[in-house]
Amino acid sequence: MRGPLEQLYRDFDYAARVERDAIRFPLRYPDPRDREVVALLTACLAYGRVDLFGRELERVLNEMGSSPAEFIVHFDPARDGEAFARFRYRFNRPRDIIAFCVAIRDALARHGTLEKCFLAGDSDAGGPIGPALERFVRVFLEAELGQVFPRGRLSRGYRHLFPLPSAGGPCKRLHLFLRWMVRREAPDFGLWTSVSPARLLIPVDTHVENMSRAIGLTRRRSRNWRMAEEITAALAAVDPGDPVKYDFALCHKRMSGDCRDRRDAVVCAPCGLRVVCRHWRGKRRG
Ligand code: SF4
Repeated sequence: MRGPLEQLYRDFDYAARVERDAIRFPLRYPDPRDREVVALLTACLAYGRVDLFGRELERVLNEMGSSPAEFIVHFDPARDGEAFARFRYRFNRPRDIIAFCVAIRDALARHGTLEKCFLAGDSDAGGPIGPALERFVRVFLEAELGQVFPRGRLSRGYRHLFPLPSAGGPCKRLHLFLRWMVRREAPDFGLWTSVSPARLLIPVDTHVENMSRAIGLTRRRSRNWRMAEEITAALAAVDPGDPVKYDFALCHKRMSGDCRDRRDAVVCAPCGLRVVCRHWRGKRRG
């Protein structure tokens, strides 16, 4: 597995795909403070197709101006909330974006940065990432949001922005956010230097799931937290220090159509993963 995966990681044309990936939104902001909050907002909304949520996200970012971090630090729901009045994306409505700004504002006021907020709940820096991620998510779910949700109940859309690891789902968007912030090599940012890339779990979406099954990284049927752990453990056998480094290439190989998740003499011909691909089992000599 090592040879084909390393070749994929090394030879992948990242520049060609970054502009089609959600990472392009935080990448625009050189200031780490902006990049951090835009990365979290982007990751929270990154369900469905990039072009669809990207359109709405673009509007939100336009309203936030040149420094989204500054906008959020000084955010006043009564004064600034109207800026998001036209926001609509699937489960999410304007009040969810307003609540996001309030919760992040208060977390930044308390901790200074989102990294410090994460570290405040990370009691075992050498252990699994799940408990720290759970505490990080609870900061936003347990924020004082009475001004946005006067009945004291969070909206479904707001809760959808912050899935809890303890619920057992794959938490793809949270792992994506961590990958962006923690991994040291491009296209990721490597801003959270206090967290080791070895602790990350792979963000499993439908593309990563398909690719992982094709090359035997998982046999699980349900896309959930355990699947993310299993795929990551298989990748850690190849690179224990940075197991999720293959995520971007695996995801985009499938997303771009360079893999059709079936044997295809033309599409598969240049694929280095063919030697480990189940679709070519028994056909490798040919
Ligand atoms: S050999 Fe074909 S089906 Fe298998 S991973 Fe490569 S492109 Fe996909």
